[in-house]
Amino acid sequence: MFDWEICQEVQLLQEVHGKTPVFNIEDSRVWKVGKDSGYSVKSVYALLRGPFEGNSMFVSLWKTTDLPSTQVTTWKVLINSIATKVNLERRGVLVDTNICSFCRMAVESTKHMFFECKIAWLVWNQCYAWMGITSVDHVDPVSHFLHFNLLNAPVQVNVVWSSVWIVVVSEIRKHMNKHIFQGGVINLSEVFIVAQLKA
Ligand SMILES: [Zn+2]
Repeated sequence: MFDWEICQEVQLLQEVHGKTPVFNIEDSRVWKVGKDSGYSVKSVYALLRGPFEGNSMFVSLWKTTDLPSTQVTTWKVLINSIATKVNLERRGVLVDTNICSFCRMAVESTKHMFFECKIAWLVWNQCYAWMGITSVDHVDPVSHFLHFNLLNAPVQVNVVWSSVWIVVVSEIRKHMNKHIFQGGVINLSEVFIVAQLKA
């Protein structure tokens, strides 16, 4: 018997260890996410939204009038599921290196790609100057986004501020993708001006 066959048997024995077999019931598939073990679109939606469901931060995200595709991109950034090299590697997708494609000075994580990398950092600085913000110290996506939600401000004001954040993140993503798949140099002013116009 090959080693891998032994390994599989050992793994199976570990999985069934301590479990009591149930007889006289036909095998069937079980959807464990739903409350009643039955599959439903609602349960998939809840699974995808994860622990953030109902979070006020996401309420302001979905309240903006940005395009749904743009909202989804930023939502993925906030829950760290956007396709960066670090995340692709974590999912078992083969990448030649996890080093940032732009600066080649750090691993390409979500926070690096959108907030720490020189390109993103320069775009954000233009945005801060435009909005009258001195700076935002946080590079964690959620903390950064929350800086664009003003305390005690009317909902409509925060929707506008959230919209600015969303389009800047989205434009950074779009231009970085363009650079990765089509080559060329990223024009920082263009990234910000497009974001500004959309906002
Ligand atoms: Zn970088």
